[in-house]
Amino acid sequence: MYLDSGDALSYDTLVMATGARSRRWEGPGIKSDRLFYLRDIGDATRLGLELRAGAHIAVIGAGFVGLEVAAAARSLGAEVTVVEVGDRAMPRIVLSEFSAALTRCHEEQGVRFYFGTRVVSIKDDVIHLSTGEVLRADTIVVGIGSIPNTDLAAEAGLAVDDGILVDAFGRTNDPCIYAIGDAARHVNELLGRRVRLESWQNAQNGAIAIARIIAGHVAPYAEMPWFWSEQYDHNLQCAGLPLDIDRIVWRGDLGRGSAMAFQMSGNTIVGVQALNGGRDMRFGRQLLEAGRSIDLERLSDPYSSLQEIARVA
Ligand SMILES: Cc1cc2nc3c(=O)[nH]c(=O)nc-3n(C[C@H](O)[C@H](O)[C@H](O)COP(=O)(O)OP(=O)(O)OC[C@H]3O[C@@H](n4cnc5c(N)ncnc54)[C@H](O)[C@@H]3O)c2cc1C
Repeated sequence: MYLDSGDALSYDTLVMATGARSRRWEGPGIKSDRLFYLRDIGDATRLGLELRAGAHIAVIGAGFVGLEVAAAARSLGAEVTVVEVGDRAMPRIVLSEFSAALTRCHEEQGVRFYFGTRVVSIKDDVIHLSTGEVLRADTIVVGIGSIPNTDLAAEAGLAVDDGILVDAFGRTNDPCIYAIGDAARHVNELLGRRVRLESWQNAQNGAIAIARIIAGHVAPYAEMPWFWSEQYDHNLQCAGLPLDIDRIVWRGDLGRGSAMAFQMSGNTIVGVQALNGGRDMRFGRQLLEAGRSIDLERLSDPYSSLQEIARVA
């Protein structure tokens, strides 16, 4: 392994934990010094200086990063506009009911949204939209996803496809090299497919599992993915990454500010999402991880205790 200092290090076992980087705005205006990204502490410090009362902040992308920046900026008194090419917020993972509830909450706080709208170009403080409209912003925050850092792995001859490809034990196609965290796309035996996850749970627990494997305790690394987001005083949590669901069982009342949705495949829970779900989310995750058949009538009965259902599942 060669370092940029010119030094070379040899290894018996190598772990690649190269993470991911922010996807860049590549249209006209790419060099604008008004463009900001959020990936590391330097980005956060620079952006933090821009978020102040009265500043006009445009956010490109209504994903987790974009909406959390919008909430922080608005809470500090900035004027915030979010432009999203999709027709709703957080479309990749979050159920549309929760997207709508959080969008409403942002709008009540004074955030403006343009959905189904693409940013076409940026020149100085002017942003041209695909609708023909024009926005002005002091600061433009780009939150359009991330790209795994796989160049080094590819150069080393490892298999790469939206992440460094590893098996359920974190092994690449080179028996001496493992990959973990945001950079890796691992076989997840609970989901029955390969996934690349961007969460601290995966970064931390994947690292622990792979360290144990290297030390000789060979067991597959498999966890139910779990993500959350804090926006204003709302907490959104999503567990599982189901591809196919045939119905959703609801508990709680979104109109009253908190609800939990069980994504079902037959009588089995394959995903759980909650807005302001509090401690019930813990029991929801337990039920998801148990993977057993559930009495749907009981699950949807608002008077039945989720803790009790999880205890007997
Ligand atoms: C704005 C933001 C908010 C987030 N919020 C949440 C959240 O609320 N909850 C949650 O679970 N997750 C969240 N995440 C995701 C979480 O931060 C990541 O999943 C986690 O940091 C991934 O850890 P990692 O070690 O794989 O990669 P990273 O933390 O990206 O670390 C990789 C490191 O490798 C270094 N590196 C890369 N290439 C080389 C090289 N060739 N040589 C030497 N060093 C190299 C990089 O500089 C970097 O320091 C958030 C991420 C972002 C960007």
